[in-house]
Amino acid sequence: MMTKEINLSELFPIHAEIEGNRIIIQLHNIIVGDLSLSQFKKSLKKNLILDQTELDVAVRGDQLVLEIGSPFGNVDEKRIANTAGQLISNLLYPTLRNQVTRNKLVYITKATGIPLIGRIDFGIIDRGTNLLQIRPITGCVLDCPFCSVDSGSRSKTRITDFIIDSDYLADEAKKLCEFKGSRSIELHIDGQGEPTLYPYLPALIKDFSVIRGVETISLQTNGAPLTEKLIDQLETAGLSRINLSLNSLDHNKACELSGNAGYSLSHILGIIEHIMRSQISLLIAPLWIPGFNDEEILGIIRFVKKLGIESKWPVLGLQNYLVHRHGRRMKGVRPESMKHFRWKLERIERAFEFFPLLLRHGDFHIVPMNSYPKPFRKGEIAEIEILGAGRMSGEMLGVGRGRSLHVLTNEKDINRKTRVRITRTKHNIFIGNPVGH
Ligand code: SF4
Repeated sequence: MMTKEINLSELFPIHAEIEGNRIIIQLHNIIVGDLSLSQFKKSLKKNLILDQTELDVAVRGDQLVLEIGSPFGNVDEKRIANTAGQLISNLLYPTLRNQVTRNKLVYITKATGIPLIGRIDFGIIDRGTNLLQIRPITGCVLDCPFCSVDSGSRSKTRITDFIIDSDYLADEAKKLCEFKGSRSIELHIDGQGEPTLYPYLPALIKDFSVIRGVETISLQTNGAPLTEKLIDQLETAGLSRINLSLNSLDHNKACELSGNAGYSLSHILGIIEHIMRSQISLLIAPLWIPGFNDEEILGIIRFVKKLGIESKWPVLGLQNYLVHRHGRRMKGVRPESMKHFRWKLERIERAFEFFPLLLRHGDFHIVPMNSYPKPFRKGEIAEIEILGAGRMSGEMLGVGRGRSLHVLTNEKDINRKTRVRITRTKHNIFIGNPVGH
């Protein structure tokens, strides 16, 4: 009997532990799932037709190892490893969770049949300009008390997270860039959460950088998961600009505004220094919460002025605190109108001699550009298919006519055709309300 070991953790980015009959597998520090040990062994033997081969699964440290004993001498290691990888992926899929938020995680590949256009929470959003928003992952490491999308581990409304296969996302972005005429495109990676949690970010940016017509690749981040190594990788991949959130230079207030006691302001300041040493442009994007961080905002303006960041884009992008229907709101804070916010910025621009503070589309070279046709009309009744849970309770993921939709229903029947009245089509984002069956 010849015995052989195959270390699956050396071949795939997985860490594992065994608990009873379950193998718990973690991928890339963000994706976690579990599968039945006995079912995995049985399926592997069946798929490989290994009747007389002894097969066992062990975990050494956090490495997942296959132990194979064959009476026939040599075994086809590559075939066994590939089959094991495929099986793990299939068996793991229904149990996937976002390691950070602990929410159920839906891994979207081309094979799932889930289109990447049509929803606000994942995929590609085209608002009819040369800037496309790219949303590869949902979920956040922070729990900011003002979060407009109620993201993070303490979210009360977001129950499902999504992650998109990077090849699928790059292919769909390429198609849309071609549709727009392959010129002057900005791909802006943001999301309902923190996009640097996306484990394939450098690879995605590298794929974006070779799409014809893509001139700028920008990234929105709170900076917490960024490391110097990751910044170097993003720079090599072709990232043009980082828009970094920074809401206070006071450690305690910064922590309070992040909703996370582990938030490290000094880490963020180190990240700023490292970005400034790289080829990536930096824009600091503080949220102005009236009556809460007024002094801090003035301090940040002074800080950014002193930094002397060089960039072809504005280096400071102050945001107005707005309340969103499904977001979190700061207790006791009254939002200010955009008109008043702009008035304040104009005054500060002059007082601090800091230009521009009041940003316009032109500062980022954003121009109107044709969008994909909308396959639904507002008010029409359309047949669509429910493919899974939505990001929020009371909402499901629907698919129809090459688009994903938000379907406002509590019914959990999956793979069911249903008729909906389309109530939103703006920016190719669709909402459907079920109508009588
Ligand atoms: S960093 Fe952004 S997405 Fe994350 S909790 Fe804060 S506001 Fe929400």
